[in-house]
Amino acid sequence: MSPIKIPVLDLKPQYEQIKDEVQAAINRVLESGQFIMGPDVKLFEQEVAEYLGVKHAIAVNSGTDALVIGLRALGIGEGDEVITTPFSFFATAESISNVGAKPVFADIDPRSFNVDPKEIKGKITPRTKAIMPVHLYGQPAAMGQIMEIAQEHGLKVIEDCAQSFGARYWGTCSSCDGHCQEPTRESLRGKFTGAIGDVGAYSFFPSKNLGAYGDGGMIVTNDDQVAEVARMLRVHGAKKKYHNEVLGYNSRLDTLQAAILRVKLPYLEQWNEGRRRVAKTYNELLADVAGIITPEFADGHVFHQYTVRVLDGERDKVKEYLGEQGIGSMIYYPVPQDQLPVYQGQYPKMPVSDLLGTEVLSLSIWPELEKYIIDSIVKVIKQLLVVDK
Ligand SMILES: *Cc1c(COP(=O)(O)O)cnc(C)c1O
Repeated sequence: MSPIKIPVLDLKPQYEQIKDEVQAAINRVLESGQFIMGPDVKLFEQEVAEYLGVKHAIAVNSGTDALVIGLRALGIGEGDEVITTPFSFFATAESISNVGAKPVFADIDPRSFNVDPKEIKGKITPRTKAIMPVHLYGQPAAMGQIMEIAQEHGLKVIEDCAQSFGARYWGTCSSCDGHCQEPTRESLRGKFTGAIGDVGAYSFFPSKNLGAYGDGGMIVTNDDQVAEVARMLRVHGAKKKYHNEVLGYNSRLDTLQAAILRVKLPYLEQWNEGRRRVAKTYNELLADVAGIITPEFADGHVFHQYTVRVLDGERDKVKEYLGEQGIGSMIYYPVPQDQLPVYQGQYPKMPVSDLLGTEVLSLSIWPELEKYIIDSIVKVIKQLLVVDK
């Protein structure tokens, strides 16, 4: 196989753009000598809360910790069930299992890759305490229907926003035939993902839409009580130092990472717009490829990944062929969470999620990705698959 010439993700163009500001921020922290919970952490929390339009933002060590602490702050634990999607990174279900609760999987909608609200209804039992939707690939889940189900059954909603920083929920689609429209309440329209449910959990893993230069995460909520518990859990379960009340965690966001993320936050809208531009170009260029279903272009989608479905069992062949031409691509995710070895034999088959696991292919995307590179990737795909639709 030839070496990869076009990676799936290239973070260098972004760094070039903000290099001076980032280095100044790092130097400022180094000079300050304050590396844990310094002023940058507090300021970053305030800036995120303001941007997302939420009351509280609590910075933590990772997206996974944001989910774990978020769940615990909502009072979810032993004996509880949390309904979620099988089609996500393992951290989603892992966080539920790690607080002692049971992840219950509801199958997905094949067009949005997100949990299907109709499937959620069939999974509710007396033990169900919460729903954890994931805004996969940056596309808002069907929050209108999810919030309705939650209210009807008295369930909490914790949104896994690891891939959707900056995504807004509209429930509408102005760029396709409208099949991603969702019936929803006006009051939810235009809200940021994470600001709709009881808790939103974000990741600042370097590859995410808002990425640190290391691990990081954030919990957001409008609930004062939830915020207070989350703040306590992130520092060993203590509201007052050395007066630990419950078993917590050491899960703080490094001051250095907070300072870097503060530099990046003002650019986020522009970067997400860049991702949408890339996705739109792909969708147009791939529209006439018979064996490919391009992703929905829902309003507010921030395309953390650009993921197509390759039909007729051709996915692996396409991936291999791209690789031979030096073009990277990824499969998110080859094994749905319910089928992972850790849960083997515990869950019934999920037909849609299982099928999509064999069809999905994520192509190169980053905000600055140039048109000529997209052209060359599409050209290679068209050498292999029939063009005619
Ligand atoms: C990245 C990711 C996480 C975990 O975030 P970390 O910061 O790596 O812990 C959780 N859920 C989803 C959907 C993710 O993509």
